[in-house]
Amino acid sequence: MRLLLARVLLPIVHRGSRQCTGGTQKEIRVRFAPSPTGFLHLGGLRTALYNYLFAKKHGGAFILRLEDTDRSRLVPGAAEAIEDMLEWAGIPPDESPRQGGPYGPYEQSQRLNFYQEAVQALLESGAAYRCFCTPQRLELIKKEALRRGEMPRYDNRCRHLTSSQVQEKLSKNLPFVVRFQLPSGAHSFQDLVYGWTHHDLASVEGDPVILKGDGFPTYHLANVVDDHKMAVSHVLRGEEWLISTTKHLLLYRALGWQPPIYAHLPLLLNKDGSKLSKRQGDIFIQHFVQRGYLSDTLLDVITNCGSGFAGNQIGRTLPELIEQYNLQSTVTHSALLDLDKLPEFNRVHLARRIEGTDTRAQLVAQLQPLLLEKYKDLMFDKEYIERILVLRKGHLNVLTDLLSPNYSYLWVRPSVQQEDLHQLSSEASEIGSLVVQILQNRQSDIGLELLSKELKSHLQRLEATNYSTSMKLLRLVLSGLESGPSVAEMMLSLGPEESIIRLQKALSS
Ligand code: GLU
Repeated sequence: MRLLLARVLLPIVHRGSRQCTGGTQKEIRVRFAPSPTGFLHLGGLRTALYNYLFAKKHGGAFILRLEDTDRSRLVPGAAEAIEDMLEWAGIPPDESPRQGGPYGPYEQSQRLNFYQEAVQALLESGAAYRCFCTPQRLELIKKEALRRGEMPRYDNRCRHLTSSQVQEKLSKNLPFVVRFQLPSGAHSFQDLVYGWTHHDLASVEGDPVILKGDGFPTYHLANVVDDHKMAVSHVLRGEEWLISTTKHLLLYRALGWQPPIYAHLPLLLNKDGSKLSKRQGDIFIQHFVQRGYLSDTLLDVITNCGSGFAGNQIGRTLPELIEQYNLQSTVTHSALLDLDKLPEFNRVHLARRIEGTDTRAQLVAQLQPLLLEKYKDLMFDKEYIERILVLRKGHLNVLTDLLSPNYSYLWVRPSVQQEDLHQLSSEASEIGSLVVQILQNRQSDIGLELLSKELKSHLQRLEATNYSTSMKLLRLVLSGLESGPSVAEMMLSLGPEESIIRLQKALSS
């Protein structure tokens, strides 16, 4: 299989001798073609990502085309939001409604002239015909078929209209659609993922509508015309379209065009094998953005459930995904999405961003206004936030965890009851002055490990208070919490001055 794919893929990858108006460079061109009938969800993001990876891997172009011909199902704002989300995810299209490009427009509703042209050519060659059947007749055919327990299909009646009958109906201004005449017999094609597929469409389907009564094309025609006109070299799309590909190839043949190469991608399913449903609010990308997940996390999670990579591995960033992606590693079984792993994935990616100087600065810039909003007039300087991020690296699920009550001690002083402290230990004030001394004497760049050791060696010498109780007491003083980060980490986060203030305030008496 691998060898076979290599043979099919390689000549095409290097062939691609289509010309772009910008030059004569050989090009791989792929497209993501969502309908703006809803917002981008994980399944869509995955299809877009695989197209992006394929384009970037082969130095090609990634196109966003909006398939907005089903006017009744358009959702206001969805088109804009889809492109926003691709940009947010770090996989912006090279050509799109927003970016423009040499093959525009990139919304199907703006390309009606191209479809009209193709329909005209098909009508002239006899590959398509006008159908004047009324909705009532079509409904009747459907009912009859269902009554007989058969799949409803159009009976191709208008195929047989003579040209004078057609002219007569046209002169009466009767409404019509245009249908494509399905050639009989089985047709085969080779999909890069699913291998050879055979379909005898004419034996199971009536002739499909390619141009609707409102002058808009149906998906099948528009898809073919645009992939051709936009010089798309490879179509990487969801497996649900595999069944339609024969129809598309027949249209290419009837139009005398060379088709692109097809690679269908297995579906992304829920962990329990059920379909991702748009009614599941938690699959939309905006939902994850709002919950503070990083784009790297989403890209990693949707590629970690099989297909396109030699193995699963947590923590891959986009450049690593591009480098390691291989279309030939796409398997045909569905990918199961495990959203329970999101926090774990995000922890890893957040840690990676904390490690990078630039990405860390971006995190600080994101956090500052949120802190300001929550803690009103308090100002937190960049260095302070950076220090906290570095110390908490690997412990935060999302950046906004730092706004939760558990971390409020970092931004406001806790109120601690004296009685609680003295109840914990009769040596509370000794502990306080001992630790203040350690902090006053310590080197300014003491690390976490050294500070922990120092605390331990001094506090273990106390007579009446065991070490873990001392820690409990100190944690309470510094943060008002009974559990949380280590005392040494809290001290390093707050800095010596603030730690000393808190210790002296609570433990001076
Ligand atoms: N508009 C179709 C969809 O939303 C595109 C299918 C294709 O990529 O050909 O899935």
